Amino acid sequence: MNRADETRRHRVLVVEDEPGLAESVRYALDVEGFDVLVSDTGVSGLESARVNDPDLVVLDLMLPGMSGLDVCRQIRRSSDVPIIMLTAKDAESDKVAGLELGADDYMTKPFSMRELVARIRAQLRRAAKSGALAESNEVLRGGPIELDIDAHQARVDGEPVDLRPKEFELLESLMRRRNRLAARHTLIDEVWGPSYFGDTKTLDVHIKRLRQKLEAEPSSPQVIVTVRGLGYKFVDEQ
Ligand code: CA
Repeated sequence: MNRADETRRHRVLVVEDEPGLAESVRYALDVEGFDVLVSDTGVSGLESARVNDPDLVVLDLMLPGMSGLDVCRQIRRSSDVPIIMLTAKDAESDKVAGLELGADDYMTKPFSMRELVARIRAQLRRAAKSGALAESNEVLRGGPIELDIDAHQARVDGEPVDLRPKEFELLESLMRRRNRLAARHTLIDEVWGPSYFGDTKTLDVHIKRLRQKLEAEPSSPQVIVTVRGLGYKFVDEQ
């Protein structure tokens, strides 16, 4: 997000092939003061994301031709723009796949426009906040792990590790409470926003990915440990 343009309307790209739904979303977001762009295929959505540089993408997973998952993967190669996926009710594996590919949230059809707007606002707040945090020039350290807030870079034993935006925020939340419990609801609030209504499995998917990237033995974690029934703890004292 361009700081000089903070007062401008947020631009939301909607990639959805059902004309009725696309129109309802366009109308609801327009009323709320967003600039709305609609694409009805994955290919045109990807092109629009590249050309128009939206602040957020609402992405249907079931698209003709290029799938929403492929669109998500392609966008993540070059952009941290918040992505909210739209999924069919029974497509559990799609949700997990989308989150693995770096989507920030998902909504299951049918959904209310009010809820969609709330989630879009939550994601935009998160994005603005992580942009502001990135100016604080702070480095968190715990065990072999360093988190350079300013450079938005994680390192393990001095070696850079590539984290996605939500993984980075989650690790930051954990490290700010190192050796203390980080409750599930606290982490979800901090990383996905207080108006996050989604599945709490999202948290576990991200924890798993962090362990794979940070732990010597991800299957028996020593750094990001589970506090059964309560949450997680970043441990740097053995
Ligand atoms: Ca569709």
